[in-house]
Parts: sequence; structure tokens; C-alpha cells
Amino acid sequence: METKILKINPFDVNLEKINIAADIIKLGGLVVFPTETVYGLGANALNENAVKKIYKAKGRPADNPLIMHFDKLEKIKDYVYITEELLEKIKIFVPGPITFVLKRKSIVPNIITANMDTVAVRIPAHPIANKLIEMSGVPIAAPSANLSGKPSPTIAEHVVEDMKGRVDVIIDGGNVDFGLESTVIDLTEEIPTILRPGPITPENLKEVFGKIKIPDFVYGKGKVDTAKAPGMKYRHYAPDKKTILVEYSENRINIIKEKIKNYKNPLLVIFEEDKKFFNEYDIMISGSKDNYYKIAVNLFSILRDADKTDNDVIIIEGVLDKGLGISIMNRLRKASSEIWGE
Ligand code: AMP
Ligand code: MG
Repeated sequence: METKILKINPFDVNLEKINIAADIIKLGGLVVFPTETVYGLGANALNENAVKKIYKAKGRPADNPLIMHFDKLEKIKDYVYITEELLEKIKIFVPGPITFVLKRKSIVPNIITANMDTVAVRIPAHPIANKLIEMSGVPIAAPSANLSGKPSPTIAEHVVEDMKGRVDVIIDGGNVDFGLESTVIDLTEEIPTILRPGPITPENLKEVFGKIKIPDFVYGKGKVDTAKAPGMKYRHYAPDKKTILVEYSENRINIIKEKIKNYKNPLLVIFEEDKKFFNEYDIMISGSKDNYYKIAVNLFSILRDADKTDNDVIIIEGVLDKGLGISIMNRLRKASSEIWGE
């Protein structure tokens, strides 16, 4: 398949180019587009054949449901059951990097929801995503635009790497804002429950919902409730190389120095503050230990770059399980096959 690449400036959105992409969506094709979280791989959510192509292009298992994207919050009312009271609450986060799981109406195709009675909805804040959905005139089903299992793409080059030849259009809109997938919150439970931590933190959510639940699996502990969060059971975000996560502690430098001796050709992905302790090793900088936002934005890009070096193992420093750190650690635990800690 030939893939057309459209370069669009998010600060000065070219409507003619968006229109080309919107026509592809209307015709049942696939369009990759930037959002504020990561790049998405979109199709007309109401066209089952088009949605099937998403699963095929990604190699995604059929029981991993997709998120339905809308340009305006009001429009979700045609697809989900929601009270005015709840609508008022979620308005505070919309548009933005958060996805709400709600009871679905029958108009939502089964293929999007993996046959569940709930559907995930999101209203992205990115100007290109928003215009594309508006001009397509339909909700857009979209997962992240990576091959299944790989780190999500946060720059257009990574989309091209994974999706060239598999989709009709790739919109190159430059870098994303957050670099982590949206927070997924299940609002069908009595206490709103985080299924995937993301840019909107538990603290942000508590302010609006009062009580919220964070299941153990979010922290990489306990079993995933696959009936509620089917997508979370899969290995994700993973480099091909063996990846080791070092849990954050005051003692992290000593732990790494001791254990790294067992490896011939390791690559260290560490905070700029810790670089000076490892001059003899190959190093990539993840950011500053005091700036989680920066670490999050670069995380997936660094994992991809780390996979391309000739090192045989990636050793990456983790952060504290606090605020945005919960979301970073959730991804790092899934990306790694071994954890070093105290
Ligand atoms: P992706 O778009 O690749 O980040 O994946 C979307 C994720 O949203 C899936 O892996 C699911 O975990 C989650 N999701 C989508 N629909 C539902 C749903 N109805 N219930 C629970 N989680 C969902
Ligand atoms: Mg994904």
C-alpha cells in the first residue's frame, strides 16, 4: 500500500491537507495523526471493515479494545449512557489526555469494544486531531500508531518506521506534548477506577471525583482484571533487547555499580545527575530526576533509540511512584523483564 505523508503545522493547521485525510477516513481508510499524548492510528469508528484494518495494520489482538475519539464532548451522548451530573464533572478534563470508560449504547460496533458492554471515549486537545475528527464527521477509533507491543510513537519518524506501507496517510505534526498514552478511568464502577495511569494524575482526579481507586496492577503488582482492562494484560512498550529497570532509591548508584559488572556491553539510560558516576559506560540521558514531565515526553523515543544501538542490554533508572511518576513506572515495568531494587 502506498502511504501519503502530509506535513501539517499544529500551530497553523492547513485545512486543505486535513480535508485530504478526512476524505480517507470517510472512505474507510487508515490515517495516522498526532495527538497531545502519542500518535494515533485512526479509522471511521462506525465502519466495521475500516476498524478491522486497524487491528491488521498493528498486529493487535482482537480482544484489546480501541478508544473512540470525538471532537466535542456533547457528541458522546449518542454512544454512551451518562448522567448530566457526570458529564459536568468530566467536562473539567475535556479536551485533554484522558479517556473515560462508560456504558455503551448499541450503536457502538462490537469490534471497537472487544464485545464488552462498555466503551472508552476521549476528546483530544491536539488541534490536528480535533480538526481531523470534525472534518471526518464521524467518531474516529484509534489506538497508538505503533506495531503491537512496541513503544508508542511520539515523533513522526517512529510512525514511519512502524506504519509506512500499512496505512493510507501519515500526518506528520511534529512532536507530541506529553509522550505517554492517556489516563484511562473506568466510570462504570461505584468508585472511579484508574485502568491505565497517564498524564492526568490521581491527584488531579481526586479533586473532581473525591474518591478514586488505583488497582494494584497499575503498580505492576497483582493480577490484571482482564474482564475490565483487557488491554493491560499484554506485553507493551517493549524494546527487543533485554531491558532492566532500576527502582528509584538513594542507593541506586551502588546497586547499578554492583550488578552491571555481570554485563559485557550494557547501555545505561540514566538521569543527567547520575551521569558522572558512570563515565566508563555507554549512556543515554533520560532527563532530570527532578523533572518527570521531561522524562515522560522522551521516554518512548529513548526506548526506541536504545534498541537501535549495538549494546546487548538496556539498564534504565526508574522514578518515584508519585504523580506523573506512577505513569512513567507503569510503562517501564511493562517494558522491562527484570527489576533491580533494594
Ligand atoms: P491504545 O489506544 O493502544 O493506547 O489502547 C487503548 C487502551 O484503552 C486499551 O489497551 C484498553 O486497555 C483501554 N480500553 C479501551 N476500551 C476499553 C474498555 N471498554 N474498557 C476498558 N479499557 C478499555
Ligand atoms: Mg497502544
